[in-house]
Amino acid sequence: MEYLKEDQLKKKKKRQKIPMRKKSKRSLATKITIDVRMDVKVRDNGKCTICGTMENIQIHHFVPRSLGGMGITNNLISLCQFHHKQLHDGNGYILEHVKQYMKDLYPNVNNNERKYNKFNGGNK
Ligand SMILES: [Zn+2]
Ligand SMILES: [Zn+2]
Repeated sequence: MEYLKEDQLKKKKKRQKIPMRKKSKRSLATKITIDVRMDVKVRDNGKCTICGTMENIQIHHFVPRSLGGMGITNNLISLCQFHHKQLHDGNGYILEHVKQYMKDLYPNVNNNERKYNKFNGGNK
């Protein structure tokens, strides 16, 4: 019974057609592909870079997508669900930690290089 219900729900979801919006170049540039997601996980050993848990790992855009932050390895960091939320809630300690982590890993990358070039006034 339960199974049938779930199946029906799925079908219902499929039917609600979301109008197809053409994906913008920016949206593609800021998106995290499966390959990049893997790279980031490997780099961070599959762990939250704050607490080291391996559960509920999410990938965070260091320079946010809203600012054109790209889905590239040097703009992404692994955080557990809890610390990801903490960061977005403005926890300064987490933010500093993330900044330092990225700085240690990529000392020569500045934030403009992490942005889709439309958002930094063209290429450097
Ligand atoms: Zn964590
Ligand atoms: Zn995030």
